[in-house]
Amino acid sequence: MLITYPAKLIKKTQLNEHVYYLSCTLPDDENWTYVAGQYMIFHVPSEDPMKPVRRLYSIASAPVNKTSLDFIIELVPNGMGSNYIENLVYGDVVTLQGPAGLFTYKPSVRDPIFLATGTGIAPMYSIITDLLATKSEKQLQLFWGMKYAKELYLVDGFETLAKEHDNFTFTLCLSQEEAVNDARCIKGRITHGLNNLLSNFHSPASNFDYYLCGGKEMVESVRLFLSENNVPKEQVYFEKFT
Ligand SMILES: Cc1cc2nc3c(=O)[nH]c(=O)nc-3n(C[C@H](O)[C@H](O)[C@H](O)COP(=O)(O)OP(=O)(O)OC[C@H]3O[C@@H](n4cnc5c(N)ncnc54)[C@H](O)[C@@H]3O)c2cc1C
Repeated sequence: MLITYPAKLIKKTQLNEHVYYLSCTLPDDENWTYVAGQYMIFHVPSEDPMKPVRRLYSIASAPVNKTSLDFIIELVPNGMGSNYIENLVYGDVVTLQGPAGLFTYKPSVRDPIFLATGTGIAPMYSIITDLLATKSEKQLQLFWGMKYAKELYLVDGFETLAKEHDNFTFTLCLSQEEAVNDARCIKGRITHGLNNLLSNFHSPASNFDYYLCGGKEMVESVRLFLSENNVPKEQVYFEKFT
């Protein structure tokens, strides 16, 4: 059910130079819920009431979390939403509207592969946490792309999930790093990681469903890669952060 409510900021942590983790209170209505992968609409205060400013941010927490609604947000230079979020402090009230969006897990006979870049990890974190919390028996594989190792965050969280659940693995793909010395990371783009996986398992790409999230260019280039590898478009779900 889509509602608008005053959420209180209860945690704000800086994850890297440009990325913040925000936790907000949930609506009072106990019946309110969302599906992992959906987003909330932030009402950004605007000087002109005739021109409301709205920005969409994916929910990074999972419905199993009954204490907060969490977000992973990258601040872009001179962005209206970014400037607003940068200045938020503990206790501030943020008007949130939601949930909205269709980028949710679609049960299928195939196993899913999740491919994210940057803060595109937010809905993936929600979906993967939710699938594991609800004891999904699917084999879940995540490829997360960043440019440099120093930009990484939440890796411990994914590592804990992978240790606790045999059916979850993740690979960090660093596209610009010169030397990669971490067993969890490979050098290259997420498509490179995916290519390795498919060749190691001698598995046709069309054996999987794909969930893509990140900037427009990344989503389009991975969609092209999948189409060139004969994956039917019905098996590819995506969210573009535009
Ligand atoms: C469904 C959906 C879910 C989203 N979820 C998330 C999320 O979970 N986390 C998240 O960080 N973002 C997310 N986004 C993106 C977010 O909604 C904003 O578009 C983004 O934060 C920029 O908003 P802004 O108001 O700060 O910048 P704007 O005021 O919109 O833009 C200001 C300037 O910055 C430029 N700009 C905008 N974006 C970028 C960029 N990424 N890099 C460089 N320059 C840029 C613009 O071209 C413009 O010149 C999502 C978008 C969609 C559509």
